[in-house]
Amino acid sequence: MDEMFVTVVGGGLAGSECACQLADRGVRVRLIEMRPDTMSPAHHTGHLAELVCSNSFKATRIDSAAGLLKDELERMGSILLSCARQASVPAGGALAVDRERFSELVEQEVASRPNIEVVHEEATSIPDGQVVIAAGPLCSAALSAAVHELVGGEALSFFDAAAPIVDASTLDMDVLFRQSRYDEAGQGDYLNAPMNKEEYEAFIDALVTAERVVLKDFETTDLFQACQPAEEVARKGRDAIRFGAMKPVGLVDPRTGRRPWAAVQLRAENADCTAYNLVGFQTNLTFPEQRRVFRMIPGLEQAEFFRYGVMHRNTFVDAPHVLDRTFKVPGTTVRLAGQITGTEGYTEAIASGLLAALNTYADLAGLEPVYLPATGALGSLVAYATDPATQDYQPMHVNFGIVPPLEDGRRRSKRDRYAAYAERAQADLAAYLASRADLGIKAGLA
Ligand SMILES: Cc1cc2nc3c(=O)[nH]c(=O)nc-3n(C[C@H](O)[C@H](O)[C@H](O)COP(=O)(O)OP(=O)(O)OC[C@H]3O[C@@H](n4cnc5c(N)ncnc54)[C@H](O)[C@@H]3O)c2cc1C
Repeated sequence: MDEMFVTVVGGGLAGSECACQLADRGVRVRLIEMRPDTMSPAHHTGHLAELVCSNSFKATRIDSAAGLLKDELERMGSILLSCARQASVPAGGALAVDRERFSELVEQEVASRPNIEVVHEEATSIPDGQVVIAAGPLCSAALSAAVHELVGGEALSFFDAAAPIVDASTLDMDVLFRQSRYDEAGQGDYLNAPMNKEEYEAFIDALVTAERVVLKDFETTDLFQACQPAEEVARKGRDAIRFGAMKPVGLVDPRTGRRPWAAVQLRAENADCTAYNLVGFQTNLTFPEQRRVFRMIPGLEQAEFFRYGVMHRNTFVDAPHVLDRTFKVPGTTVRLAGQITGTEGYTEAIASGLLAALNTYADLAGLEPVYLPATGALGSLVAYATDPATQDYQPMHVNFGIVPPLEDGRRRSKRDRYAAYAERAQADLAAYLASRADLGIKAGLA
């Protein structure tokens, strides 16, 4: 076999994991990182795998999606998860790290692999040959333009404006009613949370006074031209949102036989209707405030959030419509990894880098592509992110709202259900990995 060679653009979380995994499979890697000469607006150092914000990799409990993802990464021999464990600091049930120590360990891992050449320069175009683009949510302008040209049209976004997503099993269906506007049969696509005038007034008061995330300077320009946060709309006038996202027109509450004063609509996130988003409620409220304010919506008093709403700078492609199931741009030798694919979060970025390495290696070595079982934390995220049926794609982190329902149909408490998801995922991944000895995966942490 000719020497295998891959260029990885971006020495962040996904790129560093990808480079190490490829190197361990005998691939020569050129890892291009633009910092420190060209800085992103959020990074502060020239180090590989710099964490731009929080130092937490989230929960470790196996019956949480974040914990299950860590277990999967361990089974697949993730290098960066191992660095994170070695750099960990006390954080209760979460894995949090000393960020400098973490970067230092990642740099040692990269340096210990002689077949990785690190080049500190900005990639302004897409390199030739086998390439993994892992340039992150703050990909430089020139490279963003090149990616835009490659994927075409409307397929590259520069900011993320996502509404919260709630767990369907935590909604009060005695209060919510199913109906599309003007739909008399009552079999509509939306769940509606009706409000009377008092409930609406109290909700608006809470919405406009709730604590918001302070945006970074680079996020305030141009960001919201296309799309306003719900609290901003509400601030324009007490009834403004009643003429927008909360308009009751065409709805009849079956309990009263009348049109509600206002209504929040919830739309299914997946075909199994296990998760719903709050239509039009993209927001900059802090996460605890979203929980407090959105739980004031009738029927959502006990709602659990699979994802909170966000609005921030974020470069990502419309993966379901422009990438194949391995995150490759069809018909090219270019694969994307990390947050630029629209998967969100530190651990997700590491996982995506690992998977990109396995699939790129599979391409080079003539092996079958790597399709992880969709029951897993990572497998379900990939399935969601590459399913052409996914509409209005917004970045997503791992969560149990996107895994297929349990087949036995038994009713379980949320805790038992999550434990059952985890157990099923572990068994399916173990079986899959056992069938893929050709990928050279060494389970466990270094
Ligand atoms: C402001 C901000 C705060 C965030 N906070 C959190 C958080 O608290 N928790 C969380 O889980 N996630 C957070 N995220 C999401 C986080 O960025 C991702 O989860 C993760 O870092 C993405 O990993 P990545 O490898 O895709 O990108 P990154 O880790 O950003 O790595 C991309 C790398 O590519 C380099 N690069 C860019 N363009 C070029 C180019 N043209 N040539 C060469 N190199 C290039 C960059 O310098 C960077 O090192 C945040 C994102 C942002 C933007």
